[in-house]
Amino acid sequence: MSGPPRPPNIFAGPYLDRTAHPREDTEWLDALRGQRGALLVPVWQLRNLINPSGGTPTARLLEWPQAAPHVSRSEDLILLGEFRNRLCFAFEITSDAPPSLAVDAEFHDLRGIGGALPGDEAGLLAYARAMVYWRARHRFCGACGAPTASGRSGHLLKCTQCGTPQFPRIDPAIIVLVSGGEGTEERALLGRQAIWPPGRYSTIAGFVEPGESLEDAVIREVLEETGIEATAPAYHSSQPWPFPASLMLGFTARARSTAIACRDGELEDARWFSREDVAMGKILLPPPQSISCRLIQDWLHGSPGSGDGQKHGKPAIPRP
Ligand SMILES: [Zn+2]
Repeated sequence: MSGPPRPPNIFAGPYLDRTAHPREDTEWLDALRGQRGALLVPVWQLRNLINPSGGTPTARLLEWPQAAPHVSRSEDLILLGEFRNRLCFAFEITSDAPPSLAVDAEFHDLRGIGGALPGDEAGLLAYARAMVYWRARHRFCGACGAPTASGRSGHLLKCTQCGTPQFPRIDPAIIVLVSGGEGTEERALLGRQAIWPPGRYSTIAGFVEPGESLEDAVIREVLEETGIEATAPAYHSSQPWPFPASLMLGFTARARSTAIACRDGELEDARWFSREDVAMGKILLPPPQSISCRLIQDWLHGSPGSGDGQKHGKPAIPRP
């Protein structure tokens, strides 16, 4: 293996130690109040608290005295792990109006600003957002309808009547760069949705269905959305994508056919693009923080279907 180490995808880690403190252990309440206590990550209306962007925006992490007025019950705290050698918790602020936690910080949607944050902070805020989202939508039992109660430091919601446990859930979705042809004739299959900005094309993606392997999902989604028969799906990398609850599983694959037919209506257009097309800016790429952009960049600089540019000693395009 040559070339520099592959940087993780945005929102991927490891950026904190999830095992630093047992979730069953509630002694962390003492740590909250200690002299060098915990860091707290507020989430309000699924937005994260960000320091002003005089230069690079950064996450605003709170000390316990700042957060305490907004935490009515200790069971509303969600233990994330140890971040920068300090225990770290997320909590949701449920007020309608934005809380004035810090006069010089504002709540922002991570989807827009995540790629500009330091990598470890982007991951931490994504984790906090995902946990808050899950808890807010599982306040009641799916089996009997009774309220749930929090356990395991925020990682369990258990029915107060029938005891059914609910654990944090993520929705797996595949995303794939399909290539076809050889040498200078090689092309990548990219598609666009009608709601995207003009000119933007991206890799093919879709949710994994029950009873389906990741490889099955790759082949099915490509066929459904573009009419192309894909083969040889190969894992590339993954990315937490908490908008609201996805885990993106990146693949490359090869095409066994060339005739495109957008069958299921999800894409308004799909086409084959050469490396030159992409390099010359013929299309608008997906946002730089997305794994779709990474898949396209790696293909641009890698070998056919490998999905791994660094294997060939070619540098990846730096992420902004
Ligand atoms: Zn129940």
